[in-house]
Amino acid sequence: MTRRVSIFGATGSIGQNTIDLIARDRDVYDVVALTGSSNIYQLAWDAKQLKADLAVTADPMRLDELRAALSGSGVEAAAGQDALIEAAQRPTDWVMSAIVGAAGLQPGICALEQGATLALANKESLVCAGSLMLSMAKQHGARLLPVDSEHSAVFQALAGEDMDAVERIIITASGGAFRDWPLEELAQATLAQASSHPNWDMGQRITIDSASMFNKALELIETREYFEVSPKKIEVLVHPESMIHAMVGFNDGALMAHVGPPDMRHAIGYALNWPTRRTLPVERLDLAAIGALTFRAPDEIRWPALRLAREVMERGGLAGAVFNAAKEMALDGFIDGNLGFTHMAEIVDEVLNASDPSHIDAQMTLDNVLAADHMARQAAKNIIEQKAG
Ligand code: NDP
Repeated sequence: MTRRVSIFGATGSIGQNTIDLIARDRDVYDVVALTGSSNIYQLAWDAKQLKADLAVTADPMRLDELRAALSGSGVEAAAGQDALIEAAQRPTDWVMSAIVGAAGLQPGICALEQGATLALANKESLVCAGSLMLSMAKQHGARLLPVDSEHSAVFQALAGEDMDAVERIIITASGGAFRDWPLEELAQATLAQASSHPNWDMGQRITIDSASMFNKALELIETREYFEVSPKKIEVLVHPESMIHAMVGFNDGALMAHVGPPDMRHAIGYALNWPTRRTLPVERLDLAAIGALTFRAPDEIRWPALRLAREVMERGGLAGAVFNAAKEMALDGFIDGNLGFTHMAEIVDEVLNASDPSHIDAQMTLDNVLAADHMARQAAKNIIEQKAG
């Protein structure tokens, strides 16, 4: 029997790795929808190769281009936010959520409403609306599986374990591009320097977020939301080799580590094949050749994003949505050349401090999450304009 699958963010780094795995086992999958945004050529190419029912670009201005690229293929073309939602409402067994940013939230929620298994690379969904996502999954008999390598590692280390026996969860961080830079040079870091990761080949936004540790900050909150553990039990450990992705410490002193090469096809393949394991085309580690793995404590002066994530977890409610929206705006500001590298954390800090508590303490509904997101984007925009001007 074939499995119906859809990939949201198919043209991105996670999306392409997912397609790589699906294309190897073509007969097993029936591809319902692929989505992208600006990369029309890739979207159309993959939709034709995989004989998808539907291809959607998030950009309504690109519909004619997508239609032309799909002409004669039998693949339906659509564009815009409503089309993304409609694609997520089509009956599917397994959905990859790999749109970047809060834009991934609504399609993910729609997929949960259909009772699908949602493989969640889009960590922003959990950061913005973790309890909502979990309750939607429960209500609709859907399943949420983590795809972030750290969270997939924790999920695997926890298989068959009692959460009451968990003393701590340690997620590792490579330290990104500026791990060893002198602190006083960080303010001058350029876009090109921040866009190059020492270990992982990823989309530009998450690569810059790795350099600033905003990625790890999001992952701290994601850990808290997905595994429903106290923030006090979650630690970050800098591990430059990116071989150990996470560890779970138990009350008998055991520390279960997940070790693997820095290749997202492991975590994607695990989520694709769960609850079974299938052979995956990832490198098998030769630990004798690697020789040594190193670790160091995270430095919250170098990476203020980690401190901000702790504050967000402390505040709870919709603070995650505010944090993520401010971070996305600050990142846009850095990418557009309007902000320096170290300004990003300052913007997020200011937006969090200035947020109206009524937004943060509001009930977690989709409308309130979107309102908090909107408010934080506006506040960040104002601060960025002041700084740039
Ligand atoms: P990419 O930037 O490579 O890809 C993002 C995808 O989202 C592309 O398909 C892009 O389309 C699409 N997209 C961009 N903007 C919008 C929008 N407004 N609406 C709808 N679609 C949009 O990102 P990654 O693959 O690196 O990351 C995707 C998600 O997975 C992120 O949440 C990231 O944090 C997470 N993640 C990524 C990892 C990695 O190794 N890359 C590891 C763990 C988690 P197009 O390219 O056509 O413009």
